[in-house]
Amino acid sequence: MDTSFSPEDLAFRDEVRAFFDEAYDDDIAQRLEGRNNNKEAIIEWQKRLYAKGWVAPGWPVEHGGTGWNSTQKFIYETERTSRGIRDVVPFGLTMVAPVIYTFGSEEQKAKFLPRILQSEDWWCQGYSEPGSGSDLASLKTKAERDGDDYIVNGAKIWTTYAQNADWIFCLVRTSNEGKKQQGISFLLIDMKSEGIKVNPIVSIDNHHSLNEVEFNNVRVPIANRIGEENKGWTYAKALLAHERTGIAGVPDSMRAVAQAKKFAAKEINGGKSLLDDPTFQKRISDIEIELMALEYTELRVLASAAAGSAPGPESSLLKIKGTEMQQAIQNLMMDMAAHYQGVLPNDLSAEQLGHEFGSAARQSFMYGRAATIYGGSNEVQKNIIAKAVLGLE
Ligand SMILES: Cc1cc2nc3c(=O)[nH]c(=O)nc-3n(C[C@H](O)[C@H](O)[C@H](O)COP(=O)(O)OP(=O)(O)OC[C@H]3O[C@@H](n4cnc5c(N)ncnc54)[C@H](O)[C@@H]3O)c2cc1C
Repeated sequence: MDTSFSPEDLAFRDEVRAFFDEAYDDDIAQRLEGRNNNKEAIIEWQKRLYAKGWVAPGWPVEHGGTGWNSTQKFIYETERTSRGIRDVVPFGLTMVAPVIYTFGSEEQKAKFLPRILQSEDWWCQGYSEPGSGSDLASLKTKAERDGDDYIVNGAKIWTTYAQNADWIFCLVRTSNEGKKQQGISFLLIDMKSEGIKVNPIVSIDNHHSLNEVEFNNVRVPIANRIGEENKGWTYAKALLAHERTGIAGVPDSMRAVAQAKKFAAKEINGGKSLLDDPTFQKRISDIEIELMALEYTELRVLASAAAGSAPGPESSLLKIKGTEMQQAIQNLMMDMAAHYQGVLPNDLSAEQLGHEFGSAARQSFMYGRAATIYGGSNEVQKNIIAKAVLGLE
């Protein structure tokens, strides 16, 4: 890849490297390690990106984007992930912001976009409901007009980091007439509103990122509705395509493979390592080849998005393949951890191995099961692709 970079690209890469060297210091790196929910550190890091002007590479320049081309975005992502720097929290910066700057009113843009850019507000996504996930359009949380407000009643579920959030963007039912997609509106709701209750859900990896959010007669100004009443489905669909593009996570997968290889190269008895095993080599090579192919597919989709077309069914393809690859790597790491239970690398004690490799492998394996479900399950993505191929709507 390097050989095709222009001198300008290489200068840009140097700038990115110099910035990360300085801004991503040991203190912030340590506080952001793993998948912890250190809200203060997450916001501090995002504010450093904002100060540099790099917190929202995907936004149009007039709203605070970087104006980078696809190659620059690729370089930035590669440098970020190769250092294990976590991505920004997506709900504000990459999910609701594009909806606001594309479909929102001038007042909404002025009110919300600068605060999202500066990480002043933490957002969460209120789409799924108990009983409405894949069939999202069946959602029942209802918003009824009362003067200048809506009164919202119902519940959302699997709401990631609702416990941190200042605002939630919600799909709500404003009509039961006609097709179910036609009675949905897109509301921005202040999490401090009276009548909102957040109930924690602890997942299989013993982590609290998920929640149920209850709405009990919550008053929301009509001015907080995006676009037209009953047109929320259109805005939501535009957002979902963006969500699925990022989900392929190729650079993160590549970093995970590099980490697996680093441990697999450790000598065990007799000067051999796991990497010397032909069966293991083949498994690693298969993964690397598939990741390379996926990387080029993602670059193609990014290039067509840069040329102005919205991400379409290709996003579904990236989501399926990207998450399958993530799980293949997690499975590999669990198998390695199991292998090392029997034959410890020469330079590590069992405690060191557990600390440096085993516990991370276990945690990412556990949480990784969710990847084929969130952002729209992989089975549902296959339906989307089938409809595109067969020309059905
Ligand atoms: C870790 C995690 C974080 C999440 N964060 C958020 C969030 O922040 N905000 C939010 O709104 N939601 C969030 N979600 C919810 C997520 O979007 C839903 O879980 C997902 O859309 C699936 O819906 P469901 O859980 O109701 O499963 P269901 O829709 O009940 O599906 C159950 C199973 O049936 C399959 N299935 C369903 N319909 C079809 C069909 N037509 N054809 C073939 N198979 C089908 C599914 O693939 C799945 O395997 C999160 C989920 C997870 C796991």
